[in-house]
Amino acid sequence: MKKTLKQLATWLNEDVPVFGDTVVSGISIDTRTIQQGDLFVPFRGEAANGHKFVMQAFEKGAGASLWQKDEPNPPQGVPLLFVDDPELALQQMARAYRSEHKAKFIGITGSNGKTSTKDILAGTLTPFFKVQKTIGNFNNELGLPITVLQLDEDTDVAVLEMGMSGFGEIEFLTKLARPHMTVITNIGEAHMQDLGSRAGIAKAKFEIIQGMQPDGVLFYDGDEPLLQELVAKEQQLNAVAFGLEHGNLLYADNIEATADGSGFSTHGVIEGDFFISVLGKHQVKNTLVAMLISQKLGLNDDQIRASLKQVALTDMRMQQVNGSNGALFINDAYNAAPTSMKAAIQFVASTTIRPEKWLVLGDMLELGPNEKHFHEDLSKDIRAEEIAYVCLFGPRMAYLNEVLKEHFDEEHLLYVEDDYMPIIEKLQQANEKSIVLLKGSRGMKLETILRTFTS
Ligand code: ATP
Ligand code: MG
Repeated sequence: MKKTLKQLATWLNEDVPVFGDTVVSGISIDTRTIQQGDLFVPFRGEAANGHKFVMQAFEKGAGASLWQKDEPNPPQGVPLLFVDDPELALQQMARAYRSEHKAKFIGITGSNGKTSTKDILAGTLTPFFKVQKTIGNFNNELGLPITVLQLDEDTDVAVLEMGMSGFGEIEFLTKLARPHMTVITNIGEAHMQDLGSRAGIAKAKFEIIQGMQPDGVLFYDGDEPLLQELVAKEQQLNAVAFGLEHGNLLYADNIEATADGSGFSTHGVIEGDFFISVLGKHQVKNTLVAMLISQKLGLNDDQIRASLKQVALTDMRMQQVNGSNGALFINDAYNAAPTSMKAAIQFVASTTIRPEKWLVLGDMLELGPNEKHFHEDLSKDIRAEEIAYVCLFGPRMAYLNEVLKEHFDEEHLLYVEDDYMPIIEKLQQANEKSIVLLKGSRGMKLETILRTFTS
């Protein structure tokens, strides 16, 4: 975004400020990461009042700043735009900028795989278009408008992640972004606490169609019956199912894990053999959406094939790391919920990359009253014939430990409540024959364990 303060005032129906000709060229809510020329947006948070940092923002190069009208003592001599509520103003500016932007907008939601899909899609399109995507996890009512306002004017495709924890949130985000194409990657169990059931989760994700362009297309996980039902009720909706099951408009089979990625065949609207440097069936599924959208944007099969080969994923999502002990670590410590946990365990159990399988699993958080069940239930995918060692970390993993005890002896099963050290010591035994999955919720910070084996 590159706008004068005067133009922003018009968007916001505010009076033209002094220094109206000042140009801002981006947006920031954090003085630690502010860039030259950014518009600084101060919030009154619980912990701190952003207005206290406005002068610091200017010292660090801010072009201008918003200022909430009822906040006393605005600084003099600097370009300020006075607004009733900076958060609402941020969203309002994003809507206005979105309206005049010519890019194709793509909105991605789902319980798991939003960031992976975003990264695979953006990586696939990058050789052919100017692509910008949500940075990290900036996927909520603040992150999305910031992402939109950071788009350059000549960007062709904007890939936007949309996250939620309750009803109405995706509706809000999709109505702001008004995407041309939308994606629902899958339905899991995250946020069960707030939404009651998997059907509730599906409904909340489905809100993404509410802000879609009239001629837009929804791409959805066709392996999920709850989504099939919702799609069937929408007669006017242009919806495309992808997945691993026969019958989806695009589906994949022959998935073969190699040391550096996954080979697979596709059937339906794209036929052929493909390769991508990510691991796990679920990531192949995410790749299918990226292929469908690439096709929609005009790439042919050969271009898609070549492009998939060069895609690299964000850290900590099924990322392969060679450990100093010789073991191959699969770092999926970014986050965990039952669906993604099972997908990752199944990948390790079935892979032939290395013969000796290790699982280092941390608590899954935010699962609500059924958390005991969800932790115990993982035992169904952890069989002593396939998995050599299991290390469990965190108070909730005690539930799983109780079940696994019946199948694993003390040498092969380690449980610790809150200390990484015993696991690090155990992992000294892992070697060139071993593959080690590291996975747990963000709060468990399992990547701490990996640090010992990468430095
Ligand atoms: P968040 O809500 O934290 O932003 P996200 O939806 O962006 O999560 P990712 O960060 O891409 O999801 O992946 C989270 C976890 O889910 C990773 O462990 C990943 O391997 C796993 N995962 C990715 N795609 C899928 C999928 N389609 N089905 C199940 N699990 C998946
Ligand atoms: Mg994410």
